[in-house]
Amino acid sequence: MAELSPTAQDGEYRLGFAGDAFNTSWYLARLSPDTDVSFLTAIGDDSLSRQMMDLFAQSGIKENYVQHLENQTIGMYMISLQNGERSFHYWRGQSAAKKLADDPQKLATAFSENDVIYFSGITLAILPDKSRQGFLAALKTAKEAGKTIVFDPNLRPRLWETADAMTSAIMQGAAVSTIVLPSFEDEAEWFHDENPMATLNRYKALGIPTVIVKNGPDPVLFEHNGHSGEYPVAPITEVTDTTAAGDSFNAGFLARFGSGDIEWAIKGGAELAARVVQSRGALVAKATEMD
Ligand code: ADP
Repeated sequence: MAELSPTAQDGEYRLGFAGDAFNTSWYLARLSPDTDVSFLTAIGDDSLSRQMMDLFAQSGIKENYVQHLENQTIGMYMISLQNGERSFHYWRGQSAAKKLADDPQKLATAFSENDVIYFSGITLAILPDKSRQGFLAALKTAKEAGKTIVFDPNLRPRLWETADAMTSAIMQGAAVSTIVLPSFEDEAEWFHDENPMATLNRYKALGIPTVIVKNGPDPVLFEHNGHSGEYPVAPITEVTDTTAAGDSFNAGFLARFGSGDIEWAIKGGAELAARVVQSRGALVAKATEMD
């Protein structure tokens, strides 16, 4: 999405680009330059869409699965600051990305050509019902073919008609995944989980081999191939901006997941996210420079 964020100059805004799955791709491409990171989406044919593609190219994110649609544009959000409080305003109703799953053949090809497929609750939220069902079916086929399917539930009630529609789609998304990366605070609110273990157990009950429950500065709870434990996060007390904490965690984790050492992978996620929350904005280049 395009992002308009306030500058130090009153009334002036800066144009940038961000979005949850994009943030994770951006961090992953920086951490693992030898890994192919492609982004599957749909954009328009206007200059704003082209500028976003320039950022993909500069960031090492491949565009081979980006569909260009005539007379369309991308979604946008604006951050406004009032008395130091940030609020978000969205224009995403007409976003071309809502059509990213309209062509089942394109989805099947993209999924068959990659080993790891990442999506989020926001991916599910923006899709119309019919294409969401097609998207989930394509993921199920990919999972059965042995692909690693990674899902961050990223609960955003404002994007759903009802809380029930959201929680039921999230559980469907988790059911076609092999790695689920929820954040406890959101899960507690919408699934009424009493503690991180309840979140872990709810996803584990679907038969998912890897569940990683993030919890801000508190320990990360994990279950991986029947082995479970807690990873203590080094808490940051001087937090500047938590934007993209979860997204960057996911990238740091995935960059190391292939090693098979689950605690080392969680450490990678936690250390990157800890650096990200100490800077302003979603995309913090210097946070990846120590890896
Ligand atoms: P989200 O941004 O998705 O709401 P969380 O708030 O659970 O996710 O944070 C994701 C990860 O970011 C945590 O697991 C942790 O590793 C890191 N993190 C977030 N806040 C802090 C903090 N105050 N100190 C240290 N790490 C943090």
